[in-house]
Amino acid sequence: MDPATKKPLISQQSDNNSFQNPNSSSARSPSIALIAFSASFAFFFFFFFVLSPVNQIDTSARRLVNPVVILISSDGFRFGYQYKTHTPNIHRLIKNGTVAELGLIPVFPTLTFPNHYSIVTGLYPPYHGIINNYFTDPVSGDKFNMGSHEPKWWLGEPLWETVVNHGFKAATYFWPGSEVTKGNWDCPSYYCQSYNGSVPFQDRVDTVLSYFDLPSSEIPVFITLYFEEPDHQGHQVGPDDPQITQAVAHVDRMIGRLIDGLEQRGVFEDVTVIMVGDHGMVGTCDEKLIFLNDLAPWIPIPSDWVYSYTPLLAIRPPSGYDLADVVGKMNDALQSGKVDNGEYLKVYLKEELPERLHYSASDRIPPIIGLVAEGYKIELKNSKRQECGGAHGYDNAYFSMRTIFIGHGPQFARGRVVPSFENVQIYNIITSIIKIQGASNNGTDSFPNSILLPTL
Ligand SMILES: [Zn+2]
Repeated sequence: MDPATKKPLISQQSDNNSFQNPNSSSARSPSIALIAFSASFAFFFFFFFVLSPVNQIDTSARRLVNPVVILISSDGFRFGYQYKTHTPNIHRLIKNGTVAELGLIPVFPTLTFPNHYSIVTGLYPPYHGIINNYFTDPVSGDKFNMGSHEPKWWLGEPLWETVVNHGFKAATYFWPGSEVTKGNWDCPSYYCQSYNGSVPFQDRVDTVLSYFDLPSSEIPVFITLYFEEPDHQGHQVGPDDPQITQAVAHVDRMIGRLIDGLEQRGVFEDVTVIMVGDHGMVGTCDEKLIFLNDLAPWIPIPSDWVYSYTPLLAIRPPSGYDLADVVGKMNDALQSGKVDNGEYLKVYLKEELPERLHYSASDRIPPIIGLVAEGYKIELKNSKRQECGGAHGYDNAYFSMRTIFIGHGPQFARGRVVPSFENVQIYNIITSIIKIQGASNNGTDSFPNSILLPTL
């Protein structure tokens, strides 16, 4: 954009590498060149460096030496939430940026950790290793949970590692996997925040903004920013409750705070802001329950076979069991008409899951996987609990599991709508904007060319 249209800046710091090229500036101001040509050199010098209004703006404009990407995740931001309430700041990004028409498609399972790590690695869960929020390594018996930071769990190369491997700075204000030491990334304290869900959202935004007050060479070229909402509210009340709008509005105010801070620093139009979610949300109510104990006449399913109940049913029988026989008997039961809601659950050997789910190529995935219909829940036995709320984790083909993608910045066309795409494409988009060679991944090499404007 034309620097003359930028707002006056609060920060007067300038490590403006373009300061000061008299040739380029005089070309913008022919009258100055004319005076300089006909008057003394001293007069030219005085006029050019002291009085020229163009010059004054240039010296105050903070310039980014490198492209910078801020990747924002709003957890559980189901596609459509942006229309549920007044979200002027999100809509400012939408209006002036590029969006996925019917939302961003999450990976299966549509859970928080697998999806966040797919977004930053470009890999499907079997390849990045985080195949569920909780799982057990079948060889060692070690258990992974959302607080596990040992590098052995986290495969692939996340963006922060790619960035620092290229000699740039990266910063993470929370993201699954960001606290894990990998390659040249050791989660440096100034640039990497240890997860603490009680940190107010605005503190997170303010810290991200503070990075833009650093000398140019210290400004991270890739920054993550994570909000737990509206996922938290969505689980409590479901996606259609009026209360969800409060959480959405809260996130929108944080987007506004970020935009304001970037504008005050004169960098909003130069920074790329990508806002995504990890998955959607669907209401779970109306007694949409399936009880595994109801399958007992066909095959008993002991609780120690079950590594995950719902919405992703994952079963690992002890060695010695014929897995295909177990699957066959479970499906016989479910299709018998004698198991309540049995028709809404189908069980597979993981190798026989639909290819589009990309959910078999890891020993960490138990050998038997059940796909349950949208909004249904699986329990071992009837707990007589009556609860309504929201859930995710279902087949990523369900529209309710979709989330948002908004890209705003120099390489995103204004007001452009592109077809929906899977979140494994985001890694290549970001390495393309930062202009670094990324690690190989499941995204398409040519995808960035389809969504980004060419650089000038
Ligand atoms: Zn989530």
